Amino acid sequence: MKSPAHRTRDIERQAGYLKPEHCAPPPPRNSSDTMWFIRDSCGIVCGIITWLLVFYAEFVVLFVMLLPAKNVAYSLFNGLIFGSLGFLALASHARAMCTDPGAVPKGNATKEFIESLQLKPGQVVYKCPKCCSIKPDRAHHCSVCKRCIKKMDHHCPWVNNCVGENNQKYFVLFTMYIALISLHALVLVALHFVFCFEEDWTKCSNFSPPATVILLILLCFEGLLFLIFTAVMFGTQVHSICTDETVSETSGYRNTGNVVTVDDESGFFMKMLLQQRHNVKG
Ligand SMILES: [Zn+2]
Ligand SMILES: [Zn+2]
Repeated sequence: MKSPAHRTRDIERQAGYLKPEHCAPPPPRNSSDTMWFIRDSCGIVCGIITWLLVFYAEFVVLFVMLLPAKNVAYSLFNGLIFGSLGFLALASHARAMCTDPGAVPKGNATKEFIESLQLKPGQVVYKCPKCCSIKPDRAHHCSVCKRCIKKMDHHCPWVNNCVGENNQKYFVLFTMYIALISLHALVLVALHFVFCFEEDWTKCSNFSPPATVILLILLCFEGLLFLIFTAVMFGTQVHSICTDETVSETSGYRNTGNVVTVDDESGFFMKMLLQQRHNVKG
């Protein structure tokens, strides 16, 4: 959970950030910018670890448990389910990672853009001092993505992306598939121990008994850890979708930033409020 200091660190108190030269329109996007990918070394390492953990589970289930099993129908049935869940988990992970979570155009807080909004006198819009964008309601700035994200839930290093308005469905599917694959792996390990306990282990696995036990214990540990983690995450996400409230909003966080208003008497001008606007929920 974010600390209060972390939650409000996108509040910029320096008036200089509202100078027009800071809000020059961004350069036009070229073709190499069209794919969304966050260049964060920690997130990239976590994303690679996620894929390696799924490949490890696929390897142990296939080569240690299912291929040596005598019952072909049992191996085929479970192999198909486990392989499909693994594929769906990785596909939803890739989509969650490479989908724009709902980034607000960078540097759109220009005078021309604000004028084009045709704000009524006294109407307030929020401007992010970090990426110089006009923040729509419920958008928050992510310091990793360096962008304001619409309906930002949280930044997830495991998918190396923010979870926001546009990619939340992929993130929810990813947590669901990982929870299911973890549960399936635990059931298969339990069945393997039950069926092979009485038999000679050399007939039950292509690996030596110590190697088999170590591989299965590691799979159990991985399955248990990720089952708990992703099941809790899945439940939290479904709850936030049902209540239409993001995790950051549940923590009492509301739209913040420098405020741009339209003056009642002298028409359009930017007004800088130099105090922190941290509206508490409710
Ligand atoms: Zn921002
Ligand atoms: Zn982010």
